[in-house]
Amino acid sequence: MLFFLSKNLISCAREIFINWYKAKALSEITNRAFYYSNKYGFEFSKIKISNAKTRWGSCSHKGNIYINWTLIMAPEDILDYVIIHELVHLEIPNHSKAFWNRLEIIYPNFIEAKKWLRDNANLLKI
Ligand SMILES: [Zn+2]
Repeated sequence: MLFFLSKNLISCAREIFINWYKAKALSEITNRAFYYSNKYGFEFSKIKISNAKTRWGSCSHKGNIYINWTLIMAPEDILDYVIIHELVHLEIPNHSKAFWNRLEIIYPNFIEAKKWLRDNANLLKI
């Protein structure tokens, strides 16, 4: 992808990129969450993007899902893993065996996805 930035905006280029990524993240994550919810019968209230430094996603008891916007820079299947992980938490709010079993049915390669996130977190910094 090619970006054009006017010269007088160069000093705030980082901020402009971050805002662009956040907007893209919110629409993409919302679309994907609806897709998986329709397919597997999850019900969420709202999708929000988060800035959390230490977690990729979380969910609230109100059914809101928070996904770290930097995942928009990750491969699509990794973004899907985090979204599906949080959707499954709406049904099973812990990391019990039942949780991983349910997740595995929808996302069989979850071990690889977890490893990717552990090994490549530095690629998602801007
Ligand atoms: Zn979890």
